[in-house]
Amino acid sequence: MDTVVNRLIRYAKVFSESDYYGQSGTPSNPAEFDMANLLVEELHGLGIDNAFVDETCYVYATIPATAGCEHLPAIGLIAHMDTTPDLTGKDVKPQIIHYEGGDIVLNQEKNIVMEAARFPELAKFVGQDLVCTDGTTLLGADDKAGVAIILQAVEELLAEKAPHGKICLGFTPDEEIGRGASNFDVQGFGADFAYTLDGGDITDFEYETFNAAMAHVTVNGFSIHPGTAKDKMKNALLMAMEFNALLPALETPGRTDGYEGFFHLQEMSGKVEQATMVYIIRDHSMERFQERKAAMAKAAAEMNRRYGENSVVCDMEDQYYNMYEVLKDRMEIVRLAEEAMKAAGIPNPTHSPIRGGTDGCMLTYKGLLCPNLPSAGHNAHGRFEYAPVESLKTGVRTVKSLLSPELVERVVMKKED
Ligand SMILES: [Zn+2]
Repeated sequence: MDTVVNRLIRYAKVFSESDYYGQSGTPSNPAEFDMANLLVEELHGLGIDNAFVDETCYVYATIPATAGCEHLPAIGLIAHMDTTPDLTGKDVKPQIIHYEGGDIVLNQEKNIVMEAARFPELAKFVGQDLVCTDGTTLLGADDKAGVAIILQAVEELLAEKAPHGKICLGFTPDEEIGRGASNFDVQGFGADFAYTLDGGDITDFEYETFNAAMAHVTVNGFSIHPGTAKDKMKNALLMAMEFNALLPALETPGRTDGYEGFFHLQEMSGKVEQATMVYIIRDHSMERFQERKAAMAKAAAEMNRRYGENSVVCDMEDQYYNMYEVLKDRMEIVRLAEEAMKAAGIPNPTHSPIRGGTDGCMLTYKGLLCPNLPSAGHNAHGRFEYAPVESLKTGVRTVKSLLSPELVERVVMKKED
């Protein structure tokens, strides 16, 4: 029998970083196939012969229901195989550190220290073993901890010959660059509903995300020699600033949290003749989300009133929606997650609104309802990433509980409390 920690360490050492500037489609980086092929091999080793990777680097596998459990809903488990391009995931050298409190020296030679003052949540893990990096790379617990938890739970269930309904496994490439759900075969996957394991602290799960749109704003000015520009020049750069000033100044990522939405100017470039800006618009409330898009359109209309038709062209495109809009009518799926966490030894699971999206929100709107379970990783996307061993084990117990026929029958099949 393998262990979840060995699995995480083994997967962390496989380079599978996604690449913003790589191949179009999936995988963005051909190296992601290394991770996919390893998983297929390991799934075959567990006796799951139907495991395969498709040409777009998605790994799928199904485990049929055990005898007498065919009536249970088919539950999907999903994690992503890529790691973020924000920090290198090459030559990852994981180490297990027994945490006694205080600062953690990750790398003596390079003097890389994880300071307790900077990461106060470390205090929760005094006396525990932590899987850490050597300070020079990320760990990739996001989301290889999710992958490890799923594989370990499946191995244990099969070894224990535990009863369960149909289980559908899906491992995706390119989540970190926003393509994780793009080629996901919801139909072929065959689950009635699913869970991504791509969260953080093992006590917290998620089923509320932002509603999201992107706006490409083009400002059309008129360039002429500054010496003879009077009453003629329209400076697109100044107009771009004027447009931005029509948006609420305090509703930006740096001034909001919790359920507060924002406008985020993330790119701006131009010359006198033309300028372009890229905004993202985010809000948990669908009503306020629509109001934000209307406010942006109104700002463009006001600029056109001031400077003439087509001075500002604002193209907005919705990116994803809050999965809660769909899940609110199927709360038994959320409750199953919560009950499974309790059964795994977490007395009071919490849920916080995600200030972002997940693969799960795309999948939810493709028809596969998909809350997000914790995967035990902390400080994602950086060199201070770590995963507590106890939390990883709790994650395995959570998944096993989630698949327990008794719990599924009680929570999902009888919808009323
Ligand atoms: Zn992730």
